[in-house]
Amino acid sequence: MKYGIVGSSGRMGRELIEVFGPENCVATISLEDETILDSPEVIVDFSRPEALKRTLEVCREYRSALVLGTTALTEDHMVQVKELAQSVAVVQGYNFSVGIGVLRMILRQYAPALSEWDVEISETHHIHKVDAPSGTAITLKKEVGRDCPTHSLRMGGVPGDHSVSFANEGEVLTLTHRAISRKVFAMGALQAARFAIGQQPGLYDFEEVVSCAL
Ligand code: NAD
Repeated sequence: MKYGIVGSSGRMGRELIEVFGPENCVATISLEDETILDSPEVIVDFSRPEALKRTLEVCREYRSALVLGTTALTEDHMVQVKELAQSVAVVQGYNFSVGIGVLRMILRQYAPALSEWDVEISETHHIHKVDAPSGTAITLKKEVGRDCPTHSLRMGGVPGDHSVSFANEGEVLTLTHRAISRKVFAMGALQAARFAIGQQPGLYDFEEVVSCAL
């Protein structure tokens, strides 16, 4: 698979190149540099929202599928992503770990049974993460189906911890996901890239990639 990375010099970019295999990397884009050696079948963007404009241009020019992991995208960004998705397959997600995909499914199915309970979400990430709350926390809140307090900690080198706690007068139920390393997101992105290549144009959620394994 010939692929390109947007955000290639970043923490995720370096991890992605290692997991996808450096030999098939035909394009790298970052703040510091842009190199396009060949036509990428898929572009994988884990960078900043400001990079999206260039990502969309490159996908259009080479008709590349897109795997989009950048967080803190606005509604306007998503309108632009949906426009691209009319011509190529786009897999977008704020968390490319399979465990979070499964946690989302569990919440969607069972949170209604706890609708009378208190619910709070907490997330912990490394000190370099710029957005808070995390995109994943926002997604989990949607799955809970109601507004709830969300707590963000920025500490050390934590790749990403998320907990959803439900409580009533007599019991507490906590569902926790911990990413042990960034590699997990890169492995999920690789799964998403394989899914996207050869897929009909459209906007796909990473959860659809996870569901393929069920
Ligand atoms: P980082 O700061 O280490 O790297 C950012 C990269 O983006 C760098 O290569 C930088 O040069 C590049 N960049 C910044 N602005 C740019 C611009 N205007 N044009 C082109 N390139 C630009 O960040 P990181 O920790 O690697 O995280 C990158 C993104 O991935 C963040 O949005 C983070 O939240 C997200 N992320 C998503 C998941 C997921 O599963 N969806 C997992 C981890 C991180």
